[in-house]
Amino acid sequence: MLNWSLATEGFSFVVIFVLLLFTHRRTYLPGFRLRGHLLSLYLSLASIALNMLCVYTIEAAAYLPLWLNLALNSLYFFLILLLSTRMALYILQLILEHTYNPRALKLGKRVLAVLMVVFLLLIVWNLQSGVLFYFNSAMEYQRGPLNQVGYAFLLVQLGVVVFCFFRYQSSVSSPVRKLMSIMPPLVVILTLFQYLFPEQLLNGAILAIVHLILYISFQSSSNEVDALTGLGNRNSFYEELTQRTVRKEGFHLVLLSLQRFIQINRRFGHRTGDLFLYEVGAFLSRSAPGAKAFRFGNVEFAVLFPGADPQESQRHFQTVCQRFQQPWKLGEKKSALSACFVEYCHSSPIWGPTQLLENLVHGLRLARQAPDRVVRFDQTVISALQRRAHLLDLLRQSIRERRFQVYYQPVQDLERGGFLTAEALVRLRDLDGTPVPPGEFIPLAEESGMIDKITWIVLEEVCRFLNTPEGQGLESVSVNLSMQQFADPSLAQRIHGIMAGHGLPHRRIKLEITERVLLNDREHMSAMMKEMSAQGFGFYLDDFGTGYSNLSSILDLPFEGIKLDKSIIDTFPANHRAATLVQACVALCHTFGTEIIVEGVETAEQADALARLGADRLQGYFYARPMPGEELAPLLPQGDRL
Ligand code: C2E
Ligand code: CA
Ligand code: CA
Repeated sequence: MLNWSLATEGFSFVVIFVLLLFTHRRTYLPGFRLRGHLLSLYLSLASIALNMLCVYTIEAAAYLPLWLNLALNSLYFFLILLLSTRMALYILQLILEHTYNPRALKLGKRVLAVLMVVFLLLIVWNLQSGVLFYFNSAMEYQRGPLNQVGYAFLLVQLGVVVFCFFRYQSSVSSPVRKLMSIMPPLVVILTLFQYLFPEQLLNGAILAIVHLILYISFQSSSNEVDALTGLGNRNSFYEELTQRTVRKEGFHLVLLSLQRFIQINRRFGHRTGDLFLYEVGAFLSRSAPGAKAFRFGNVEFAVLFPGADPQESQRHFQTVCQRFQQPWKLGEKKSALSACFVEYCHSSPIWGPTQLLENLVHGLRLARQAPDRVVRFDQTVISALQRRAHLLDLLRQSIRERRFQVYYQPVQDLERGGFLTAEALVRLRDLDGTPVPPGEFIPLAEESGMIDKITWIVLEEVCRFLNTPEGQGLESVSVNLSMQQFADPSLAQRIHGIMAGHGLPHRRIKLEITERVLLNDREHMSAMMKEMSAQGFGFYLDDFGTGYSNLSSILDLPFEGIKLDKSIIDTFPANHRAATLVQACVALCHTFGTEIIVEGVETAEQADALARLGADRLQGYFYARPMPGEELAPLLPQGDRL
């Protein structure tokens, strides 16, 4: 009589049962993953239960009919076979999940099916031959000569899986790769152990361990799944782009961003809002065979179609766009969802995956402002994005190497005559020496957060310049600050630190800020400006007239000067309305003791008229263009004004 212990089997049954309960709760895991995992858990429980039953029926064989024992034990062999095949298939699907090569999976399935049929025939043949097991005349269970052949089958199945893994390694996702680095060696060790110590019943334990590993890999794959829609999230979108770019596969992408979704949430509540998002995700993943959808932002979705045939791509794009022209329904609830779209066709790689993702997201930003809410990555857009990427690189390098130059545009003082102040304007040259217009790189530096570092470089340079013989001729130089800088609570401290380092009093630097900065958080700005003014810093309001601020509300703030934008005086003095506007500004500012500086003065006529209207200072090409500091000296009044 064989001496089998059931303790491990019982224990494994409990472990797998608990795993089953937890897996059932992961209802958001869609498709084959959940089905595959659940099925193998159920089969495992059944096989362990049957194994335990067989132990009892074998012990009581003398009192039971032979056919019952034969049937139960054959069924057990069959279940184990079914289970190992199911699990091998499941892991095969995981491995090939990102490989759009249906032939690979089909071939794998065929090999597994052939193995299964062979073993099944063996089980049937065993009933007559006893090659796997039989009962002797004393009704004792005996192992047949091929009893251990099951392990060989298991190892062959494992071999198929491992072969596929190495064959398609480049497209295997990282959690599955992790799984494959642990599972096969462990299965080999445990199987070997079972082979060497057959009286230890370890089948259940092996299954429990394998399921635990799978469960843990599910856990990490939930990092790749969006909990709300069950679609891939940003990580898996990135991973997908990486895999496909590495494998040089063609694909077509449609990205969309829902607009004004906050109104849907307000109207129906967040729960229903979520359901609408789910609906969008479900539609996208069903929009074409092979389509893979992702939710990579709150209201941002992407759908990837394999293949880069232009006509087919066009059809996919139309399908997605047209759906958004119809209402979305949730039972009784019905609403239109508006969206903006980006279309991208990947036939040959232009960018690496990181750059591609960055560009796609930027494309969505552009689509929001596009008249038809669509941005197609055609040659023009691609060139613009390449230029953008190039400039971002250039900015990073220029910050590292301090490649920026500062130009100074002197400002004419109408009352005292001559240039007493200047504005610092940053200059950047491309690597080949071509100048890059500030209008092009400043917005990019603001958007990418690099403007902060640039400002400090400019300020440092201006301070150095103010101490040179050329700079000493200037009472003050104004420096442009950007919006982000006012979020920094240590702004005053930092400026002070730099100026003190050069031994300069605060009054020699003026800070230019635009209306946009004020609109952002007026209270905070007001407090900050008042505090800094008390410390001797002076502020100018830049580009006045381009925004919507009303002058009297601005005059509550401690501005030393208001700079009228060039656009106001473009039609000046011929345009009477412009003249009236300038006159009104001058009058109001003077009442509040604030100076008026007019920018963009290009003609003598403009200069004369502005002088007559009472402007305090004028800045423009008529007087001087921005220039390097060294060229400024001859233009400045002689004598040290410090
Ligand atoms: P801004 O602050 O309004 O600077 C004045 C712009 O008008 C400068 O352009 C200047 O060269 C130009 N300008 C001056 N007089 C005339 C004129 O008579 N006619 C015409 N057509 N243009 C005139 P620039 O240097 O290209 O700078 C453009 C913008 O870039 C600046 O506008 C400012 O917003 C930004 N910027 C420049 N340097 C810096 C900086 O160091 N930091 C920050 N944050 N922004 C800067
Ligand atoms: Ca300015
Ligand atoms: Ca300006």
